[in-house]
Amino acid sequence: MKLIVIAAAAALLATGASAQSYPDKPITVVVPFAAGGPTDKVARDLGVALGAVLKQTVIIDNVGGAGGTLGATKVAKAAPDGYTLLLHHIGMSTSPGLYRKLAFNTLNDFEYLGMINDVPMTLIGRPSLPASNYAELRKWIDANKGKINLANAGLGAASHLCGMLFQQQVGVDMTTVPYKGTAPAMNDLLGGQVDIMCDQTTNTTSQIEAGKVKAYAVTTLKPLSTPALSKLPTLDSQGLKGFNVSIWHALYAPKGTPAAVVEKVNSALKTALKDADFIKKQEALGAVVVTDGRVNPAEHKKFVAAEIEKWGAAIRAANVYAD
Ligand code: ASP
Repeated sequence: MKLIVIAAAAALLATGASAQSYPDKPITVVVPFAAGGPTDKVARDLGVALGAVLKQTVIIDNVGGAGGTLGATKVAKAAPDGYTLLLHHIGMSTSPGLYRKLAFNTLNDFEYLGMINDVPMTLIGRPSLPASNYAELRKWIDANKGKINLANAGLGAASHLCGMLFQQQVGVDMTTVPYKGTAPAMNDLLGGQVDIMCDQTTNTTSQIEAGKVKAYAVTTLKPLSTPALSKLPTLDSQGLKGFNVSIWHALYAPKGTPAAVVEKVNSALKTALKDADFIKKQEALGAVVVTDGRVNPAEHKKFVAAEIEKWGAAIRAANVYAD
């Protein structure tokens, strides 16, 4: 009995001491999608700002596949010491509805560290697609039923959610082609191997600006103010009434990470989100850095719980599942 008490006290002391000196070695942030894509870009830019505040190197580990669930699983099972974090997006709240078997529980298996940004999406097409605006795309879709390839980053990805709702609203089923992220999907779209994709502005803005892809619409209710995207109509104004998809990114640690470490990372995140360079980069790509209460762990978790309910209903209506 005495031994157990001593061991517990020693463990407590060790945790306290390590939380105090945290971080004394590089921090790995798992990005559950391919390098060079929208989530990776947010992570790399945030990693610089966060690393400067925490005075440590932030290493990005891309663990793509299965719509972000492989990377999330890796972090759910990692040591809860603050040295392995997860930067994920709306997939945290869509995966529970999409996967019958999920190796993690979004609400129970993580410490919530705070939200990072909100990111609108755009509907784009391969450069050779014979449709220059949404009205022409709509006609092309009707004329090509059964032959259309829609790229996405796997079940649970933002591109999947947006593409799923798009197919539902236009009433046309497309062949979905999954990738480990929308960076490789974009390469195939540019090469003409796939026809269309719904992707985050953080990945599409530069391609749209350079005229390398066909750009048809934004997925938010209001048009965007980012110069390169401001001329794009909303899907809502093009007949898809109420179409409104904007995604978010956030930071997580494995469940059981010491409260002092959670507090330290959250405080560093709050400072990093005020970094002028980070804000400038995000805004240029159409993303909006979070300034509201969702930057606090408790509110972040409450928001995600509401998102699970919201998207769960849409997923049940679409009847899309993975075993
Ligand atoms: N965020 C994913 C990526 O970074 C794409 C997606 O969710 O659709 O590739």
